[in-house]
Amino acid sequence: MRFDSLIIGGGLAGLVCGIRLAEAGLRCAIVSRGQSALHFSSGSLDLLAELPDGTPVDFPLKVLDTLKQQAPEHPYSLMGTDNVRRYATESEALLARCNIMLTGSYQQNHLRITPLGTQRATWLSPVEIPVAPLPWQRITVVGIAGFLDFQPELVAGSLAENNINVKTAELTLPALDTLRNNPSEFRAANIARVLDKPEQQLLLIDELKTLAQHTDALFLPACLGVDDSQSWQNISHQLPCPVCLLPTLPPSVLGMRLYHQLRRRFQQLNGIMMPGDAVVRTETHKQNISAIFTRNHAEVPLRANHYVLASGSFFSNGLEAKFSGIREPIFGLDIRAPALREEWCHEDFFSPQPYLQAGVAVDKYFQPTIGGQRIENLYAIGSVLAGFDPLQQGCGAGVSMTGALHVAQRILESQGAAHESA
Ligand SMILES: Cc1cc2nc3c(=O)[nH]c(=O)nc-3n(C[C@H](O)[C@H](O)[C@H](O)COP(=O)(O)OP(=O)(O)OC[C@H]3O[C@@H](n4cnc5c(N)ncnc54)[C@H](O)[C@@H]3O)c2cc1C
Repeated sequence: MRFDSLIIGGGLAGLVCGIRLAEAGLRCAIVSRGQSALHFSSGSLDLLAELPDGTPVDFPLKVLDTLKQQAPEHPYSLMGTDNVRRYATESEALLARCNIMLTGSYQQNHLRITPLGTQRATWLSPVEIPVAPLPWQRITVVGIAGFLDFQPELVAGSLAENNINVKTAELTLPALDTLRNNPSEFRAANIARVLDKPEQQLLLIDELKTLAQHTDALFLPACLGVDDSQSWQNISHQLPCPVCLLPTLPPSVLGMRLYHQLRRRFQQLNGIMMPGDAVVRTETHKQNISAIFTRNHAEVPLRANHYVLASGSFFSNGLEAKFSGIREPIFGLDIRAPALREEWCHEDFFSPQPYLQAGVAVDKYFQPTIGGQRIENLYAIGSVLAGFDPLQQGCGAGVSMTGALHVAQRILESQGAAHESA
């Protein structure tokens, strides 16, 4: 099988890169083993919320020079300020082309309300998520009877600290009884699959109408809208006050929806998705990858002009920590990581953990090396990269998306150059 580009990993980075390449007419395939970080994420996309020295960031693009001084190997520092600006803008346009409805802008972070009722700086949030400062005096936080992955009292406690009059309430929704009887099945995604059915929405609206009478806004767990925000819009239109959704513990409906919307766009552009398949072996010829082999395709080689590694961090097994060291298991790429094992972790659990900055070392074009030698047709993007801490710096989605577009641009330029010289 032959493609223009082959991408390993169908998380945020791989999908965005694939969409951009497919939009430009390249024949592109994504091999992806399993669920990605999106399935566990808040659904909000972070660009840069904090500098490595702990300084909070309001205007991400204005601090990139300082970031470069503090973290010269950060993917943004390698890419350069102009490229971060360019690809942050393009990311927003690409998400809009996928019909993903988000609030926010790369110009300035906003504060989203978290599942704990606290505030966290981020770049883009699903339109359903409430954003500070909240314009309401009275809020009712509504749980679902028996659903443990969202605790209205926790949310209410934090919101009340901001002088808001907060009440809690509970939906009974008998339609959920079958799920409710099996606690391991009573999860946000399964609840959403029931509540997304039009007949169930009517029952939900009936229960919410009673609660909506003496409040300015209703906050619900995000158990609606696995495919798109249509259910939320239907419900919102029929209630006298705004309805907001808060992310739950994983699986996250808002993150899953983002995944489905990106994947749909990629496939509409004739991108080929190979879910549930894993790259198990690769073949190299004269400093170029000549083929990859996957679990499902066995001895049938998958070949392309360009290969993009988007296999994620430790969470997705894109990186592995062994007694002998941290390694990238597919190509055996050169890694940047603390030299000594005892330096991987900080003894204070809540401090930034050094191992999170470990990953594949790349140059300014996001090209990795093996044994110090660059592989001419291989790129690495997303959380497999070294040099940043998505948790402390709040930059995970931004690194994934801007890096994906940076690499896609490089591939498109080299395809163009190849066509011209042909
Ligand atoms: C639990 C969690 C929650 C997060 N929440 C947020 C958030 O709310 N906002 C935010 O901005 N950032 C968040 N992040 C940061 C997140 O890492 C990035 O935002 C981004 O989603 C990472 O995307 P990725 O494509 O690089 O990697 P991933 O999403 O990890 O995707 C990698 C994919 O590669 C596949 N893969 C791995 N090995 C192989 C192989 N051999 N063959 C084929 N496929 C393979 C995996 O199965 C996976 O599907 C979160 C991270 C984690 C771990």
